[in-house]
Amino acid sequence: MGNFVLKFKQFMQGRNGIDKLTYGIFAVYCVLSAVKIFFIGNKWGTIIISVLQFAVIGYGIYRILSKNLQKRYNENFKFEQFLLAWKPHIEHLKLRIKYFRTHRFRTCKGCGEFLRLKRKSGKRQLVCPKCGKELSFFILF
Ligand SMILES: [Zn+2]
Repeated sequence: MGNFVLKFKQFMQGRNGIDKLTYGIFAVYCVLSAVKIFFIGNKWGTIIISVLQFAVIGYGIYRILSKNLQKRYNENFKFEQFLLAWKPHIEHLKLRIKYFRTHRFRTCKGCGEFLRLKRKSGKRQLVCPKCGKELSFFILF
């Protein structure tokens, strides 16, 4: 067993291994698996998604075993930049879900600040705490 671990370590020497993009690829694979559930009984839908899953996992394995470290590093860097760009949107979505029962969220038209309002339907007037612009929002429910 120890021999196998050693041989595997030698095999992985100088290869890319697992990075953040690998986890992203795995997440895409999981999403495809979830989507596949909706295509049960649809022969071509299942085949197309299976081919996509195969391609995604193949690309993941190719990246793990790749020896072109600079290229893989650049791909991973681009992926991390993409995640960073989406982080605020994901955080906002988390807040919207967390406070769904008690609050509503709007964006200030002046400065783009994310505002949390008490849940009260109808027209609402308020002043942005950051830039001082007067705002009016309509909250349906
Ligand atoms: Zn503002």
